[in-house]
Amino acid sequence: MAIDLHTHSTASDGSLRPAALVQQAHEAGLSAVALTDHDTSAGLEEAVQAGKDLGIEVIPGCELSVVSPAAKMHILGLWLPVKPLGLMDSLEKLNRLRHERNVVIVEKLQKLGIDITYEEVKERAGEGSVGRPHIAGILFDKGYVTSIQESFTRFLGPRGKAYMPKTVLSAAEAVGLLKQEGATVMMAHPFLNGLNLDQVASECIRLREYGMDGLEAYYTEHSPSQQQGLLQLASRLEMQVSGGSDFHGTPKPSIRLGVGKGGLSIPDSVLDTLKAHRAAQGLQV
Ligand code: AMP
Ligand code: FE
Ligand code: FE
Ligand code: ZN
Repeated sequence: MAIDLHTHSTASDGSLRPAALVQQAHEAGLSAVALTDHDTSAGLEEAVQAGKDLGIEVIPGCELSVVSPAAKMHILGLWLPVKPLGLMDSLEKLNRLRHERNVVIVEKLQKLGIDITYEEVKERAGEGSVGRPHIAGILFDKGYVTSIQESFTRFLGPRGKAYMPKTVLSAAEAVGLLKQEGATVMMAHPFLNGLNLDQVASECIRLREYGMDGLEAYYTEHSPSQQQGLLQLASRLEMQVSGGSDFHGTPKPSIRLGVGKGGLSIPDSVLDTLKAHRAAQGLQV
């Protein structure tokens, strides 16, 4: 049996509804799956219910986008309540700011003579949260740019003409919010954050002070030597490890539940060890 502790549904930028994702995890033979949508807990109730119906363990979680002095990074919370009220409050505030930012970006584009409305952007995002990729898609569809990348270089990226920075949580704030909800908190895909192993170590030591429990050592894009380095680091720091594919469905078509691009394999013992760690902290699983 295998597990996958990092996946995305339609509650953020994945293509499968939470229940469909859980069903696919069950069909793939996984014994446990965590739903970790970006900056939302909206899919958790449906995923947990599907897990009960199908008889597969579903761990409710989320993945928060944060900044730290060292880098932008993602922080995973595992074993969240399905309605984490304090966290939801903070995320709602951020969502309001994100909405205001998208409106400003669209206004800037309109001033540049581009035919785009906020309504169009919202429609394109559907149920998910609106972001620059949706705006980029519209610019591409309407022929203002010849690639999504060009949308970012010319308009939406830090040097683009319609750029507007986003308000995000600091890593320390995110860890604190998640710990208050009783979550187990991991640094997501440490090598996707532009940090080297020494910098990952410093960040882990710093964020451990705020309660971060460990890091995601098993990950689709980590090479075997990176995985090994992270496992050794976690062991040296006496911190926990987790693992997941970062499954999104069609937005990342080469990534499959549990196995990533084929080479990923997350031992069941990872989950057992995390549960033992929670038990030692007096937390429920
Ligand atoms: P937002 O949350 O609205 O700031 O959008 C962030 C998303 O935009 C990222 O997750 C990427 O998917 C996408 N993105 C950011 N920069 C680029 C880029 N240079 N080229 C393509 N996509 C990008
Ligand atoms: Fe994503
Ligand atoms: Fe991530
Ligand atoms: Zn992710």
